[in-house]
Amino acid sequence: MARDVIADRISKLGGEGAFEVQKKVAILRRDGKNIITCHIGQPDRPAPKAVVDVAVKALNDGDHGYTPSGGKLEMREAAAEWLTKTRGVHYSWDEICITPGAKPAIFLALLSTIEPGDEVIYPDPGYPTYGSVIPFLGAIPKPLPLVEELGFRFQLGQLKELITPGKTRMIILNSPENPTGGVLQEEDLKGIADLCHEYDLLVFSDEIYSQLIYGEKHHSIVSITGMKDRTIVMDGHSKAYAMPGWRLGFAGSTKEIARAMELLMTNSNSCAASFTQTAGRHALIMDQSPVHEMIAEFKRRRDMIVKRLNEIDGVTCHNPEGAFYVFPNIGSFGKSSEEIEKYLLRGASELGAGKDIGVDGVSVLAGTAFGSYGEGYMRISYANSYENLELAVKFIKEAFSKL
Ligand code: PLP
Repeated sequence: MARDVIADRISKLGGEGAFEVQKKVAILRRDGKNIITCHIGQPDRPAPKAVVDVAVKALNDGDHGYTPSGGKLEMREAAAEWLTKTRGVHYSWDEICITPGAKPAIFLALLSTIEPGDEVIYPDPGYPTYGSVIPFLGAIPKPLPLVEELGFRFQLGQLKELITPGKTRMIILNSPENPTGGVLQEEDLKGIADLCHEYDLLVFSDEIYSQLIYGEKHHSIVSITGMKDRTIVMDGHSKAYAMPGWRLGFAGSTKEIARAMELLMTNSNSCAASFTQTAGRHALIMDQSPVHEMIAEFKRRRDMIVKRLNEIDGVTCHNPEGAFYVFPNIGSFGKSSEEIEKYLLRGASELGAGKDIGVDGVSVLAGTAFGSYGEGYMRISYANSYENLELAVKFIKEAFSKL
């Protein structure tokens, strides 16, 4: 019999719920339905004008070529300076790798450091790429449950129990977190750092939401003395600078890891787009008021949506400290998270919900799109206008009253 065309390893990769729902929403909208989108993890505004202007000028000035695989020197320097300033620990340009979006940094960093058979601990519910890439590399995924009562942090004791001495190689952290909005505290990070020293572990710290924080300032594990050499810290332009489609991110690490990631870039993407890097550099050094304005607006929406969701019978919603997601507990309705996702998108409207307000559905993501510990929750992205979010919560309230 003929061999399968697709290599076995592909069966280990998972998809991403958000892209599946995106497709369903597109079909419903084509059919004339008014769907309020709360499933998308991207700012509902364009990149700051100053950044767009620099990109347009760069294109007009002929900035069309390849760049070095690890990024333009000026972009690497800007990212190094930015990490040095915001994390309080020194980075030089050759400790940085520029990637087309932050997501490839996850792939390249793990590809550079993880051997088959290594165990990797990661948050659950968490960003789906972690749980997909780990088995793809032949490593063993060890999901670390996040606890609602702890503001979707985790118990250090539980983390310790997941460590197998000699086999566990890495802990993936994500703070502020997608999908919960949870934020790790300084004491959590100190506890994790101690474990890293005790068991000789690396950390991949996904800090893509580092600027989207509403309470205390952002804490990074890399700021703890002795952690820089064990940590790959990732950040990027998709969230704070509203540039998700531009594809720009960066990772800070040791020179050795940065060099490995650069080699992988040479062999895969060649480089991030040149004019994107030129504009992305400007984003890091420009007046940051567009970012601060956007964050203030997200906070206003968060305050409203958390309050309104908690007013719905059967729903409890933790107040997230960062990112632009809420992760309400909907376990009391006796339906799976996936059933709720489908119900809010389509089923509720068939039962008459939303008629008075002209809404045919709200797209949310099932908590299980982020791992099995997401059962009983759904993720709502509040990267939509205040007015639309008010309508979305009205619709959700009515939909739940019909269950
Ligand atoms: N990490 C987390 C936690 C995310 O939520 C996202 C995007 O949603 C990414 C990484 C990927 O970012 P990018 O779009 O820059 O690749």
